[in-house]
Amino acid sequence: MIPLEEARARVLADCHAAGAARVRLDAALGLVLAEDVDSGEAVPPFPSSAMDGYAVHASDIAGAAGDHPVRLQVIGTLAAGGTPESTVRRGEALRIMTGAPWPPGADTVAIVETTRGAGDAGQVEVLAPAPAGAHVRPAGEDLTEAQRVFDRGTVLGPGHIGVLASIGREEVAVVPAPRVGVLSTGDELVAGGGALRPGQIRDSNRATLLALLRRDGFTAVDLGLARDDEADIRARLTAGAERCDAVLTSGGVSMGDFDFVRKVLDELGDMNWMQVAIRPAKPFAFGVLGGTPVFGLPGNPVSSMVSYELLARPGLRRLAGYPVDAQVRPPVRAVADATLARPSDDRTTYMRVVARPGADGRFHARSAGGQGSNLLWPMALANALAVLAPGRGVEAGEEVDVLVLE
Ligand code: AMP
Ligand code: MG
Repeated sequence: MIPLEEARARVLADCHAAGAARVRLDAALGLVLAEDVDSGEAVPPFPSSAMDGYAVHASDIAGAAGDHPVRLQVIGTLAAGGTPESTVRRGEALRIMTGAPWPPGADTVAIVETTRGAGDAGQVEVLAPAPAGAHVRPAGEDLTEAQRVFDRGTVLGPGHIGVLASIGREEVAVVPAPRVGVLSTGDELVAGGGALRPGQIRDSNRATLLALLRRDGFTAVDLGLARDDEADIRARLTAGAERCDAVLTSGGVSMGDFDFVRKVLDELGDMNWMQVAIRPAKPFAFGVLGGTPVFGLPGNPVSSMVSYELLARPGLRRLAGYPVDAQVRPPVRAVADATLARPSDDRTTYMRVVARPGADGRFHARSAGGQGSNLLWPMALANALAVLAPGRGVEAGEEVDVLVLE
C-alpha cells in the first residue's frame, strides 16, 4: 500500500494544463485565467455623485441646521447618464442622482435626506452641513487606467467576470475546461430502468461521475457501458482517450478474474496500479493513454466517488490550470457529536458524515449512516468526509478534520 499523498503525486505529475483559448466572458465562469489582465481604462471613468441629493458648495451649507436651514437656488437636475451643462456657483444647488457625472464648481452633496422642498426648480432648504469631497466618487477609485487587475492563474468567479466587463473586456484567455469521459464496466450492469434479470444491478457510477464532473465545471462526456470483454473495453477506451482530455473508468481494477480494464489498460497505456492506504477506494489505477490521463476508479459506488474526490479531481483541476493550492480541498475542523468508530487497519478512513455549523459557532459532524463502500445512499445524504487516521477513531466531543464536499 502507498499513502494517499504519494498516489496523488503520481497523478499530478502526469496532468498538465492545456494551452490557452479565448472565450467570451459569459463562458468564462469557473475557468482559470491564462493571461495577465491590465485595466486599460479607469473605473469609474469619471468623477460622479455617490448619493442622491444636491451638488453644492460645502462652504455655503457649513452653518446649516434643522432650525437654521440654508436656502439655495436650484439650477437644474442631473441624472446618471447626463452631462453637466453649467458650473454650480455659490448660492446654487444642482439636483443630482447617484452615478451622475460630477458638475464643475460644486464640492459636496447635500444628501436628499437632509434637505426640504424643491424639485428641479425653485429653492431648496439644506438642514445639515457636509464636508467638502463628501459623497463624490473620484475617477479611478476602483481601478486606475494602467494597473494589473488579475494575474494569470486566477480562478474566475462572478466578481471577476464583472470586473472584466467593467473594463470593457468581451473575451478573455483561459485554460479551457477539460473534456472528461466516463466509462462504466461490468457484465452485471444495466443502463436505465428496464427489468433486472437475476444477477444484474443498475449502472449508477456513470450518472454519479458525470454529475461530479459537471459540478466541478468540467465538460462531462458519456462513454457508455462496456461489457467485461477485452475488445469492447479496448474500443471504448481508445475512442474515449482520443476525443477527451481525460477518461474516468469505474470497475474492473481490482484483483478479480474478470477485471479486464486492468488487462486492457496495461496493454494500451503506461499504467500505475496502486493500492492506496485509504478506506474506501483502496484499488486505483492511473496512467496515460496516447497522452490522455486515464483514471481507473474502483467499481463500488462509494469508492468511485471517494477516489474521484481524493485522486481524480485534483488531477482534473490541474488539467484545468488551477493553482497548486486549489487542487486539493482543504480540511475543516469539526466536533464529533457521537463516536466516529473506524476499523482497526492501517488505512486512513474517509467516513461519510453530515457536517453542519452548531449553535456554538463550530462545525459539528455525525455519521451519515452505513459505511460500506457499496452503500450509496448514506454517501448521498452526507455532505462531508471525516478523515480518521489509523488508530482508535474519534470520541464524542473530540475534534476531527472533515472535507466538506458541497
Ligand atoms: P469491480 O471493481 O468491477 O470488481 O466492482 C466492484 C463492485 O462495484 C461490484 O459489486 C460491482 O457490481 C459494483 N459496480 C461496478 N461498477 C458499477 C457501476 N457502474 N454502478 C454500480 N455498481 C458498480
Ligand atoms: Mg466489475
